[in-house]
Amino acid sequence: MKIKRLLARAKLGFFDSVLDMAAWINRLGSEERRNPYRCPLCGSTDIHILAWIAPNRGGRYVEDRIDADYDQDWCQRCGKYIGARPTGELLNEANEWWMGSEFIKMERITGHSQYDFDPEDGYQAFIDACNEWWNDKTIEEKIRIHLENS
Ligand SMILES: [Zn+2]
Repeated sequence: MKIKRLLARAKLGFFDSVLDMAAWINRLGSEERRNPYRCPLCGSTDIHILAWIAPNRGGRYVEDRIDADYDQDWCQRCGKYIGARPTGELLNEANEWWMGSEFIKMERITGHSQYDFDPEDGYQAFIDACNEWWNDKTIEEKIRIHLENS
């Protein structure tokens, strides 16, 4: 009797790991990996979202529960409810904001001073130095800098 129960448990365990492996393989080339959801407040990917699960199949994930009207996702880093968004969207907004920023804002954020650079071509050397500073930032940093300075 005990052995049967152990075998049943082992089978279930194996079945679970095959599904986990399928999910892992599926994730390798997925949108989720290339364009992960992030917290729009801090840029973190350490978030939880509401989802439909199958309660009688070990709580297995079925699909996301998306309701754009409410901030129902959770950021582990911020410790608050958020509306998680794809990385691509947040990064595009941050890059557009950076490219449209005025010199005085770029000076304050980067620590560079416009007048330390050659004025030729509308201070192109200053713009290049600021853009180099920006391009060295991680995705999370860019999202956070955008949020803190816009
Ligand atoms: Zn956060």
